Amino acid sequence: MNIKYIENRKRITKVEEAANGVSYLSFEPLNKFDFITNGFSSRIGGVSSGIYTSMNLSFTCGDEEENVRENFTRMGKALGIDAANMVLAHQTHTANVMKVDRTHAGMGIIKDRNFHDIDGIVTNVEGLCLVTSHADCIPLYFVDPEKKAIGLAHSGWKGTAGNIAKNVVEMMSQEYGTDPTDVVGVIGPGICGKCYEISEDVAEIFKDNYDSEKCLGVVVPRADIEGKYLLDLHKANYYNMLSAGLREDNIFISDVCTMENADNLFSHRATQGKRGGMSAFLCINNRILI
Ligand SMILES: [Zn+2]
Repeated sequence: MNIKYIENRKRITKVEEAANGVSYLSFEPLNKFDFITNGFSSRIGGVSSGIYTSMNLSFTCGDEEENVRENFTRMGKALGIDAANMVLAHQTHTANVMKVDRTHAGMGIIKDRNFHDIDGIVTNVEGLCLVTSHADCIPLYFVDPEKKAIGLAHSGWKGTAGNIAKNVVEMMSQEYGTDPTDVVGVIGPGICGKCYEISEDVAEIFKDNYDSEKCLGVVVPRADIEGKYLLDLHKANYYNMLSAGLREDNIFISDVCTMENADNLFSHRATQGKRGGMSAFLCINNRILI
Protein backbone atom coordinates (compact mmCIF):
# COMPACT_ATOMS: atom_id res chain seq x y z
CA MET A 1 0.00 0.00 0.00
CA ASN A 2 1.42 3.33 -1.06
CA ILE A 3 0.33 6.15 1.19
CA LYS A 4 0.76 9.82 0.33
CA TYR A 5 1.99 11.55 3.44
CA ILE A 6 1.24 15.14 4.36
CA GLU A 7 4.35 17.19 3.68
CA ASN A 8 6.29 18.80 6.49
CA ARG A 9 4.69 16.68 9.19
CA LYS A 10 6.61 14.38 11.44
CA ARG A 11 6.40 10.85 10.02
CA ILE A 12 4.43 8.93 12.64
CA THR A 13 2.39 6.55 10.45
CA LYS A 14 3.63 3.09 9.56
CA VAL A 15 2.10 0.83 6.90
CA GLU A 16 1.66 -2.72 8.21
CA GLU A 17 1.21 -5.63 5.78
CA ALA A 18 -0.26 -8.62 7.61
CA ALA A 19 0.23 -12.22 6.48
CA ASN A 20 -3.48 -12.62 5.65
CA GLY A 21 -3.38 -9.86 3.01
CA VAL A 22 -4.72 -7.09 5.26
CA SER A 23 -2.88 -3.78 5.10
CA TYR A 24 -3.38 -1.29 7.90
CA LEU A 25 -1.71 1.66 9.57
CA SER A 26 -0.09 1.91 12.98
CA PHE A 27 1.44 4.83 14.80
CA GLU A 28 5.06 4.94 15.92
CA PRO A 29 4.45 6.89 19.18
CA LEU A 30 2.13 4.01 20.23
CA ASN A 31 4.20 1.18 18.74
CA LYS A 32 6.86 1.91 21.35
CA PHE A 33 4.49 0.68 24.10
CA ASP A 34 4.62 -3.11 24.10
CA PHE A 35 1.58 -3.40 26.40
CA ILE A 36 -0.81 -2.13 23.72
CA THR A 37 -1.87 -2.91 20.15
CA ASN A 38 -2.91 -0.05 17.89
CA GLY A 39 -4.18 0.12 14.34
CA PHE A 40 -6.22 1.94 11.72
CA SER A 41 -7.72 -0.06 8.85
CA SER A 42 -7.29 0.69 5.16
CA ARG A 43 -9.47 -0.47 2.23
CA ILE A 44 -7.18 -3.41 1.60
CA GLY A 45 -7.67 -7.08 2.51
CA GLY A 46 -11.44 -7.40 2.95
CA VAL A 47 -14.26 -9.23 1.15
CA SER A 48 -16.63 -6.37 0.26
CA SER A 49 -17.05 -5.14 -3.31
CA GLY A 50 -18.17 -2.09 -5.29
CA ILE A 51 -18.04 1.15 -3.34
CA TYR A 52 -17.20 -0.92 -0.23
CA THR A 53 -14.04 -2.44 -1.73
CA SER A 54 -12.82 -4.18 0.16
CA MET A 55 -12.18 -3.82 3.91
CA ASN A 56 -15.45 -2.11 4.78
CA LEU A 57 -15.89 -1.99 8.56
CA SER A 58 -19.13 0.02 8.61
CA PHE A 59 -22.44 -1.71 9.36
CA THR A 60 -24.36 1.46 8.51
CA CYS A 61 -23.32 2.23 4.92
CA GLY A 62 -25.52 -0.36 3.16
CA ASP A 63 -23.03 -3.23 2.78
CA GLU A 64 -23.98 -6.85 3.60
CA GLU A 65 -23.71 -7.46 7.34
CA GLU A 66 -21.95 -10.78 6.87
CA ASN A 67 -19.27 -9.11 4.75
CA VAL A 68 -18.61 -6.51 7.44
CA ARG A 69 -18.40 -9.24 10.10
CA GLU A 70 -15.94 -11.20 7.98
CA ASN A 71 -13.91 -8.01 7.49
CA PHE A 72 -13.75 -7.49 11.26
CA THR A 73 -12.58 -11.09 11.64
CA ARG A 74 -9.84 -10.54 9.04
CA MET A 75 -8.76 -7.23 10.55
CA GLY A 76 -8.76 -8.88 13.98
CA LYS A 77 -6.55 -11.65 12.67
CA ALA A 78 -4.11 -9.08 11.31
CA LEU A 79 -3.98 -7.37 14.72
CA GLY A 80 -4.01 -10.60 16.73
CA ILE A 81 -7.35 -9.72 18.34
CA ASP A 82 -10.56 -11.76 18.30
CA ALA A 83 -13.57 -9.79 16.99
CA ALA A 84 -15.50 -11.12 20.01
CA ASN A 85 -13.17 -9.04 22.21
CA MET A 86 -13.89 -5.78 20.38
CA VAL A 87 -16.34 -3.09 21.45
CA LEU A 88 -17.54 -0.60 18.84
CA ALA A 89 -18.63 2.90 19.89
CA HIS A 90 -22.13 4.03 18.89
CA GLN A 91 -21.26 7.22 17.08
CA THR A 92 -23.74 10.01 16.56
CA HIS A 93 -21.35 12.99 16.48
CA THR A 94 -21.65 13.63 20.23
CA ALA A 95 -18.85 14.43 22.67
CA ASN A 96 -20.09 11.66 25.00
CA VAL A 97 -17.57 9.26 26.53
CA MET A 98 -18.18 5.97 28.35
CA LYS A 99 -16.11 3.50 30.35
CA VAL A 100 -16.33 -0.04 28.93
CA ASP A 101 -15.43 -3.36 30.56
CA ARG A 102 -15.52 -7.07 29.78
CA THR A 103 -19.34 -7.09 29.81
CA HIS A 104 -19.17 -5.00 26.62
CA ALA A 105 -16.94 -7.43 24.69
CA GLY A 106 -18.27 -8.05 21.18
CA MET A 107 -20.86 -5.28 21.34
CA GLY A 108 -21.44 -3.49 18.04
CA ILE A 109 -19.58 -6.26 16.17
CA ILE A 110 -21.07 -9.68 16.97
CA LYS A 111 -23.93 -8.62 19.25
CA ASP A 112 -26.12 -5.62 20.01
CA ARG A 113 -24.93 -2.80 22.20
CA ASN A 114 -26.62 -1.84 25.47
CA PHE A 115 -25.55 1.80 25.02
CA HIS A 116 -26.03 4.52 22.43
CA ASP A 117 -24.80 7.99 21.47
CA ILE A 118 -21.24 7.32 22.61
CA ASP A 119 -18.37 8.68 20.48
CA GLY A 120 -15.54 7.99 22.93
CA ILE A 121 -14.72 4.90 24.99
CA VAL A 122 -12.14 4.23 27.71
CA THR A 123 -10.98 1.08 29.48
CA ASN A 124 -8.27 -0.50 31.60
CA VAL A 125 -9.41 -4.06 30.86
CA GLU A 126 -6.73 -6.22 29.27
CA GLY A 127 -7.77 -7.88 26.04
CA LEU A 128 -10.78 -5.63 25.40
CA CYS A 129 -10.24 -3.82 22.09
CA LEU A 130 -11.71 -0.34 21.69
CA VAL A 131 -13.03 0.35 18.18
CA THR A 132 -14.33 3.52 16.51
CA SER A 133 -15.55 4.15 12.91
CA HIS A 134 -14.10 6.67 10.46
CA ALA A 135 -14.20 8.00 6.90
CA ASP A 136 -12.62 11.49 7.16
CA CYS A 137 -13.47 12.19 10.82
CA ILE A 138 -10.45 11.99 13.10
CA PRO A 139 -9.62 9.10 15.44
CA LEU A 140 -8.08 10.15 18.74
CA TYR A 141 -5.90 7.62 20.59
CA PHE A 142 -5.01 8.04 24.27
CA VAL A 143 -2.56 5.85 26.20
CA ASP A 144 -1.70 6.21 29.88
CA PRO A 145 1.44 4.06 30.33
CA GLU A 146 1.50 4.65 34.11
CA LYS A 147 -2.03 3.54 35.04
CA LYS A 148 -2.27 1.21 32.02
CA ALA A 149 -5.48 2.76 30.74
CA ILE A 150 -6.54 3.69 27.21
CA GLY A 151 -9.13 5.79 25.40
CA LEU A 152 -10.32 6.09 21.79
CA ALA A 153 -12.64 8.67 20.26
CA HIS A 154 -14.29 9.70 16.99
CA SER A 155 -13.86 13.42 16.46
CA GLY A 156 -15.55 15.04 13.48
CA TRP A 157 -16.31 18.74 13.57
CA LYS A 158 -19.04 18.34 16.18
CA GLY A 159 -16.97 16.15 18.51
CA THR A 160 -14.05 18.50 18.04
CA ALA A 161 -16.18 21.58 18.77
CA GLY A 162 -17.46 19.75 21.88
CA ASN A 163 -13.87 18.86 22.88
CA ILE A 164 -14.36 15.12 23.14
CA ALA A 165 -10.58 14.83 23.69
CA LYS A 166 -10.93 16.58 27.03
CA ASN A 167 -13.92 14.41 27.94
CA VAL A 168 -11.87 11.26 27.30
CA VAL A 169 -8.99 12.41 29.49
CA GLU A 170 -11.36 13.51 32.26
CA MET A 171 -13.06 10.10 32.19
CA MET A 172 -9.66 8.36 32.37
CA SER A 173 -8.67 10.55 35.34
CA GLN A 174 -11.95 9.93 37.12
CA GLU A 175 -12.05 6.16 36.51
CA TYR A 176 -8.38 5.17 36.53
CA GLY A 177 -6.59 8.00 38.30
CA THR A 178 -4.85 9.07 35.08
CA ASP A 179 -2.57 12.09 35.31
CA PRO A 180 -3.04 13.94 31.97
CA THR A 181 0.69 14.75 31.84
CA ASP A 182 1.40 11.01 31.51
CA VAL A 183 -0.95 10.54 28.56
CA VAL A 184 0.36 10.05 25.03
CA GLY A 185 -2.14 11.25 22.42
CA VAL A 186 -2.24 10.45 18.72
CA ILE A 187 -4.48 12.44 16.38
CA GLY A 188 -4.95 9.90 13.60
CA PRO A 189 -5.66 9.95 9.87
CA GLY A 190 -8.55 12.07 8.64
CA ILE A 191 -9.38 14.87 6.25
CA CYS A 192 -6.64 17.49 6.42
CA GLY A 193 -6.79 21.24 6.79
CA LYS A 194 -6.18 21.80 3.08
CA CYS A 195 -9.08 19.55 2.03
CA TYR A 196 -11.81 20.13 4.60
CA GLU A 197 -14.08 22.89 3.37
CA ILE A 198 -16.78 24.15 5.72
CA SER A 199 -19.49 26.77 5.53
CA GLU A 200 -19.68 30.03 7.44
CA ASP A 201 -21.95 28.76 10.24
CA VAL A 202 -19.51 25.99 11.18
CA ALA A 203 -16.57 28.39 10.82
CA GLU A 204 -18.22 30.75 13.32
CA ILE A 205 -18.33 28.01 15.97
CA PHE A 206 -14.62 27.36 15.59
CA LYS A 207 -13.71 31.03 15.45
CA ASP A 208 -15.45 31.43 18.81
CA ASN A 209 -13.67 28.39 20.31
CA TYR A 210 -10.20 29.02 18.93
CA ASP A 211 -9.86 32.77 18.71
CA SER A 212 -6.69 33.31 20.70
CA GLU A 213 -3.52 34.14 18.83
CA LYS A 214 -1.77 30.83 19.46
CA CYS A 215 -4.63 28.88 17.91
CA LEU A 216 -4.53 30.67 14.57
CA GLY A 217 -4.82 28.37 11.59
CA VAL A 218 -7.60 26.14 12.94
CA VAL A 219 -10.06 27.83 10.60
CA VAL A 220 -9.08 30.02 7.66
CA PRO A 221 -11.15 31.64 4.91
CA ARG A 222 -10.72 30.16 1.44
CA ALA A 223 -8.91 32.64 -0.73
CA ASP A 224 -10.77 31.51 -3.85
CA ILE A 225 -14.38 31.03 -2.66
CA GLU A 226 -16.34 33.70 -0.80
CA GLY A 227 -18.11 32.46 2.35
CA LYS A 228 -16.19 29.14 2.45
CA TYR A 229 -13.56 28.20 4.99
CA LEU A 230 -10.99 25.48 5.59
CA LEU A 231 -11.05 23.70 8.95
CA ASP A 232 -7.97 21.91 10.30
CA LEU A 233 -9.40 19.22 12.56
CA HIS A 234 -5.93 17.86 13.34
CA LYS A 235 -4.84 21.23 14.65
CA ALA A 236 -8.08 21.82 16.56
CA ASN A 237 -7.70 18.45 18.28
CA TYR A 238 -4.09 19.27 19.11
CA TYR A 239 -5.32 22.33 21.02
CA ASN A 240 -8.08 20.22 22.57
CA MET A 241 -5.50 17.74 23.85
CA LEU A 242 -3.43 20.60 25.27
CA SER A 243 -6.55 21.92 27.00
CA ALA A 244 -7.08 18.42 28.42
CA GLY A 245 -3.71 18.70 30.14
CA LEU A 246 -1.51 16.65 27.82
CA ARG A 247 2.10 17.76 27.45
CA GLU A 248 2.97 19.30 24.11
CA ASP A 249 5.66 16.70 23.44
CA ASN A 250 3.22 13.86 24.16
CA ILE A 251 0.83 14.88 21.35
CA PHE A 252 1.40 13.48 17.85
CA ILE A 253 -0.46 14.55 14.70
CA SER A 254 -0.99 12.13 11.84
CA ASP A 255 0.73 12.73 8.54
CA VAL A 256 -2.04 11.05 6.51
CA CYS A 257 -5.07 12.70 4.86
CA THR A 258 -7.97 10.36 4.01
CA MET A 259 -9.24 12.50 1.13
CA GLU A 260 -5.83 12.55 -0.56
CA ASN A 261 -5.53 8.77 -0.16
CA ALA A 262 -9.01 7.77 -1.34
CA ASP A 263 -7.63 4.74 -3.26
CA ASN A 264 -6.37 3.20 -0.06
CA LEU A 265 -8.61 4.80 2.59
CA PHE A 266 -12.35 5.53 2.66
CA SER A 267 -13.12 9.25 2.36
CA HIS A 268 -16.65 10.59 2.73
CA ARG A 269 -15.82 13.84 0.96
CA ALA A 270 -13.86 12.26 -1.89
CA THR A 271 -16.76 9.92 -2.73
CA GLN A 272 -19.73 12.21 -1.91
CA GLY A 273 -20.73 9.64 0.70
CA LYS A 274 -20.68 6.57 -1.58
CA ARG A 275 -18.25 4.58 0.48
CA GLY A 276 -17.52 2.09 3.23
CA GLY A 277 -15.91 2.85 6.55
CA MET A 278 -12.63 2.25 8.35
CA SER A 279 -12.01 1.57 12.02
CA ALA A 280 -9.49 2.61 14.63
CA PHE A 281 -8.36 -0.05 17.12
CA LEU A 282 -6.70 0.26 20.52
CA CYS A 283 -6.22 -2.59 22.98
CA ILE A 284 -4.29 -3.43 26.15
CA ASN A 285 -2.66 -6.74 25.26
CA ASN A 286 -4.00 -10.00 26.63
CA ARG A 287 -5.26 -12.48 24.08
CA ILE A 288 -7.40 -14.49 26.47
CA LEU A 289 -10.25 -12.17 27.48
CA ILE A 290 -12.89 -14.63 26.22
ZN1 LIG B 1 -5.89 16.62 2.51
